[in-house]
Amino acid sequence: MPPISFESVVGGDKAALAAALAEVERAPHEPATIELLTRAYDAPRGQVVGVTGPPGVGKSTLMGAVIAKLRAGGRTVGVIAVDPSSKLSGGALLGDRIRLATDPHDAGVFVRSMAARDRLGGLAEITAAAMVLMRAVYDVVLIETVGVGQSETDVAGAVDTVVFCVQPGSGDTLQFMKAGIVEIPDIVVVTKSDVGAAARQACADARTALHITGEGEAGAGWATQVLAVSTVTGEGIDQMIAAMDEHFAILAAEGRLEANRNAQAMQWLTAAVRDLFGREGMRRAGELTLEPGESPFVRLAEVAATLDA
Ligand code: GDP
Repeated sequence: MPPISFESVVGGDKAALAAALAEVERAPHEPATIELLTRAYDAPRGQVVGVTGPPGVGKSTLMGAVIAKLRAGGRTVGVIAVDPSSKLSGGALLGDRIRLATDPHDAGVFVRSMAARDRLGGLAEITAAAMVLMRAVYDVVLIETVGVGQSETDVAGAVDTVVFCVQPGSGDTLQFMKAGIVEIPDIVVVTKSDVGAAARQACADARTALHITGEGEAGAGWATQVLAVSTVTGEGIDQMIAAMDEHFAILAAEGRLEANRNAQAMQWLTAAVRDLFGREGMRRAGELTLEPGESPFVRLAEVAATLDA
């Protein structure tokens, strides 16, 4: 196969991006893949938003509505749908549904599913690598995951903004938040607000939960926003996008964007070394380091070379 040109990937050639993503899954440690990932890592373009929540909460439908609004506003969108269904269960929690929400002829939207059942190893790591590629191409990268807090599917380590979807009438997830079991999201979205009173109650509960954890107070420069949205009435979709943009702008303005991304790259490197070489490898590698802006993909290859030697 001829090498995939980075220029065609960033130029919006979907076939080139699909080929690049396939290489990231098939041969993540090959020099050509590392070079592609590193060039993308060095040229971030978009903001990355994770949309998480339990199955049935309305994530796919909501993402469809958000994508349509972003496209109408002239922004390009890359989507990664992470399907944690195991090889054993063979199930697809996300399945094909997400694809229905987008126009396959629209050059400004690219949707990719990443499923645990297709591969061994860390789904979160491969997802993060795919994100790096897409971030170099699209204005907004959306990463959808099911559930909250499971390490295997946790995308908090690969996104700038975390949106946590809550369904009216289901108190569990808010209980988790209160108990500190889940990380505090940047935006809490109460879905299906067209159901009325239960949605208003869920918003109030979310605000109470955030108040109890002490989040939403000054200091970090951002107070977690709680929004009610409906894909039936369209309520809250604009506000959700505005909140995503506002959060991203604040990160950028405060210099936290780069710091967060560097920290995430460091976490990625650590997880990759652990996955590839185990605890013994971690021990032999000693303290891992990554300079600000340095490619974690190149760094991994360097560490691997010393461990293989
Ligand atoms: P996901 O599993 O989180 O991706 O959830 P889906 O997007 O597949 O939605 C689950 C169900 O909720 C579907 O039957 C949707 O039609 C329904 N749904 C999604 N959004 C809304 C909404 O805003 N209002 C109402 N009433 N139903 C919704």
